[in-house]
Amino acid sequence: MGAGRFAPSPSGDLHVGNLRTALLAWLCARSTGRSFLMRVEDLDRVRPGAEERQLADLRSMGIDWDGPVVHQSERARLYDAALASLGGRGLLFECFCTRREILEAPSAPHAPPGAYPGTCRDLTEAERDERRAVRPAAVRLRAGTASFTIHDELHGSYEGVVDDFVLRRGDGAIAYNLAVVVDDAQQGVDQVVRGDDLLSSAPRQAYLATLLGATPPTYVHVPLALNSAGQRLAKRDGAVTLRELGPSAFALVTASLGLTGTTAGELLDGFSIERIPREPWVFVPPEEAPVV
Ligand code: GLU
Repeated sequence: MGAGRFAPSPSGDLHVGNLRTALLAWLCARSTGRSFLMRVEDLDRVRPGAEERQLADLRSMGIDWDGPVVHQSERARLYDAALASLGGRGLLFECFCTRREILEAPSAPHAPPGAYPGTCRDLTEAERDERRAVRPAAVRLRAGTASFTIHDELHGSYEGVVDDFVLRRGDGAIAYNLAVVVDDAQQGVDQVVRGDDLLSSAPRQAYLATLLGATPPTYVHVPLALNSAGQRLAKRDGAVTLRELGPSAFALVTASLGLTGTTAGELLDGFSIERIPREPWVFVPPEEAPVV
């Protein structure tokens, strides 16, 4: 039996778009006989109290999970071990570039737009020493390919860019792309359901998984919720959280999926991955939110 998961960043309350993605992750896992894991991605952007509120909101929708909630902040040893393994194989290098330097550097031959230009890839020891004195190094993967193909249940075969992406930031923080890959592999996650804003990151992550000896998961990148202007839904768009919308939030989410039921479990009957809507969900908050 494999596992699915939801991996919220505890940066604030979940809005209806996040709740919809969580519900879809739960439905995809449960409808395919998988267990479902909850992982709090608290390596940065942590707002006190947000995790408790997020988990309470998910529970109130009938979303349950197997085993204890896992916190990335408690898993440094796993990330360090992965870095040590990659480093031992010569697959890491130190990078001293600022964001601006990367943007202004001429791109590497054949490198797709936005890919790391390779500035620090082949520095000599002396050049590294010189730069270390100026600023702390980030650690990048020495990628052995420029692209990788993943399988996505909604997008089919998807080929995307792989560059020398950051695994540990200059401030020492583990990068999301490393943590997510290590965690999914270590937790036995073989189905990743999340917003399609992360589709373009999936080839990098799947490639890294293979370097760490793991089989990349099956992906289901689901359309995001948008506001009436076609931008990604955000808190500033009005009443968008469960607390602001009250009980109508669940009904709005299920209606957007063409499902009926009053709790997650009741939706399983009519659910199949192929029936997930392919278009973004345009969410217009009600003018007056009920007082809850
Ligand atoms: N923590 C990420 C977010 O909240 C999700 C990462 C993932 O599902 O891979 O955007």
